[in-house]
Amino acid sequence: MAYVVTEACIGVKGEGCMEVCPEACIFSAPEDFMSYIDPVRCTHCGACMAACVVGAIFPDTGLAEENAEFALINAGWFRRPAGVRARVRELAVERAIWLPPEA
Ligand code: SF4
Ligand code: SF4
Repeated sequence: MAYVVTEACIGVKGEGCMEVCPEACIFSAPEDFMSYIDPVRCTHCGACMAACVVGAIFPDTGLAEENAEFALINAGWFRRPAGVRARVRELAVERAIWLPPEA
């Protein structure tokens, strides 16, 4: 089990969750549109969920249908970040989510 960063983080991206994670297992590169939790290192403590002001983080066992893909997106970023980045951009366009101009 792990926690998952979902749609609400796209285009928002801050560091609130990273600052409270005791495992330091939440990442984002400057060119990313959101943050990602490493499901291998996440200990399911829930601290990040409480810290996220936009309510973007959920346990993988409690994902709404529209967020189900984000379990794969989070895990996938650690193996092929460019592919995941492209998919997140695609989702942003499909779902009319604002992205910062430099994205
Ligand atoms: S549930 Fe805990 S260990 Fe997992 S990403 Fe969130 S803060 Fe880090
Ligand atoms: S605190 Fe929420 S919005 Fe900020 S990076 Fe983490 S998941 Fe994204």
